[in-house]
Formats: sequence, structure tokens, C-alpha cells
Amino acid sequence: VAKENGKNNYQFFDSELNEITARKMKLDTELRRAIKRNQLTLVYQPKVELCTGKTIGMEALLRWNHPQLGFISPVEFIPVAEETAQIVNIGKWVLETACKQTKIWHDSGFPYLCVSVNVSVLQFRQHDFVDKVKTVLETTGLSPEFLELEITESIMQNVNESKVVLHKLRDLGVKTSIDDFGTGYSSLHILKELPIDTIKIDKTFIDDIDEHAHSAMVKTIVDLGLNLNLNVVAEGIEYQYQAHALVGYKCGYGQGYLFSKPANPVEFEKYLASDNRSFFKHVN
Ligand code: C2E
Ligand code: MG
Ligand code: MG
Ligand code: MG
Repeated sequence: VAKENGKNNYQFFDSELNEITARKMKLDTELRRAIKRNQLTLVYQPKVELCTGKTIGMEALLRWNHPQLGFISPVEFIPVAEETAQIVNIGKWVLETACKQTKIWHDSGFPYLCVSVNVSVLQFRQHDFVDKVKTVLETTGLSPEFLELEITESIMQNVNESKVVLHKLRDLGVKTSIDDFGTGYSSLHILKELPIDTIKIDKTFIDDIDEHAHSAMVKTIVDLGLNLNLNVVAEGIEYQYQAHALVGYKCGYGQGYLFSKPANPVEFEKYLASDNRSFFKHVN
């Protein structure tokens, strides 16, 4: 009986594994047609200056709406796209679309907006990555200082190569940011050497700030960033008291549902027009 059970367990495990593999293959196939079929869109989440509540820019976030499969989260499909290197094409589309949209907003009364675009480490490692960024800026007409590329700490596994690319991007005038800071491989000693502009503190740390408790960890990360002359952005701010605490820590910028969920361009424009500073009545 034990043997039989064991066998059944294996079968169960196998079929579950097969299901996961089948889903991945399906996503991979469908993703190959997604751009052409206009299934991919970008939404934009405001980045605000915490002490004033003013929107200074936005992060572009990818959305995939498939006619049969429905809405698929980037948390699910980005890793698939990374496994099959499709992320290189998709990432290029994201960069072009985000820069084009930002240029439109610049020309329609919001010339100060800076757009942040997520870049997969696979894209970052392409030998022609910097050239591609340069081309996109030229074809869209967006000035380089209004583009910020968000990369994760995984680039630190190849410090020397990454440093060269980061220097090239800086020469180009583009800004760079370490996303999800604190969750990855950062060695503090390396951080000091990298030519980056911003760190984004991961939401999991911001979650530790509750109504009654401050977060020594968040305060420490903010201090670290400021001491290294970096901009510090807190991600995933959901509550007023978190924004309040962050202002106290001298964290410059923030994003989160408190201000706005990622929004389509039309909704984002409405947000800009109202530029909801009332959130901060209680902060200062
Ligand atoms: P990320 O770059 O760290 O983006 C932040 C994520 O947190 C986004 O999830 C955003 O919608 C969500 N978020 C923002 N504020 C809040 C909040 O207050 N509460 C909560 N619960 N969540 C909040 P999203 O859009 O699902 O994206 C997930 C991840 O997928 C991103 O994390 C990024 O790593 C990846 N991703 C998204 N778009 C792209 C892209 O164009 N290229 C690449 N390479 N990766 C992307
Ligand atoms: Mg990001
Ligand atoms: Mg992040
Ligand atoms: Mg994150």
C-alpha cells in the first residue's frame, strides 16, 4: 500500500508539474503574438515628492490582457519572458511606448515629468542595450534626463560589466535606479562604487511601518541612500501614517496606492490635472 501511495504521490507531483509547464508554454506562445495583437499596454503610477505631494514623474508598468486567458500579471509572465529571452523585444516595446507617451505629456503642459522604466537584467546585458536606449530617445525626441531605468540588484552579480554599462548610460544622460532595494544581492561596498542615481526601497520594508511602530530598517536604508547622495524612493505606500513616517526619515519620494494605483494614460492625466496634494494636509 505504501508503495502504491508513493507512486500516486509521484503521479500527482508529475501532473502538477506538467500543468505548470503547459501554462508556461502557452504563455510563451501567446506572448510572441501579444505585441502585434495590441494586447500589451502600459499603465503609469505617479511618483510624488513626499514633502509636497507634487507628482514629479511616473513608473511605467506593463499589462497583458489576453482575449481568452484574461488579465495576466507581470509577476507571472515577466519570468516566462525572461526564460525565453522574449523580454528583450518586449522591453524594447515598453521603452519606446513609455518614452513616446512621456514626450506627449511634456508637450501638453507637463514638461517636468520623469518616466521610470523597468529593465530586465537580460536586457541590460545585451551588448547593444545602450545603443538601443539612445535610438529610442532620438526617435521619440525625449530628453535623456527625463528617463530613468530601473534595474534590480541582480546586476551586482556581474559588477564590472554592469559598471561599464551604467557609466555609458550616465554619459548618455539617462538616470538609473536600483529597484526592490534590500531584497537582493547588494553589497554596500559595491553600491558605493556604482554610478546610480536612485534607490527604491522595496514594499516589504514599507509594510513594516504601521500606525504605532516605526521601522529602524527603513530609516537606516534612507540614511544610507542619502549619505551616498542618492535619491530615495519608497515603494508601496498605502497609508497616510507611512507617508508621514517617511517624511520624518527624510525620504524624498514615494509611490503607492495612497496616491494612486497604476493608471492608464487617460486616468493618469486626470490625476496630473488634479495633482492631489490634499493627501499631505496632515503630513507637514
Ligand atoms: P516593481 O517594478 O517593483 O513595481 C512595483 C509593483 O508594486 C507594481 O506591480 C505595482 O503595481 C505595485 N504597487 C505599487 N504600489 C503599490 C501599493 O501601494 N500596494 C501594492 N500592494 N502594490 C503596489 P505590478 O505592476 O504587478 O508589477 C510587478 C513587477 O513586474 C514589477 O515590480 C516589475 O518587477 C515587473 N514589471 C512590470 N512591468 C515591467 C516591465 O515593463 N519590464 C520588466 N522587465 N518588468 C516589469
Ligand atoms: Mg519598478
Ligand atoms: Mg520595485
Ligand atoms: Mg517590488
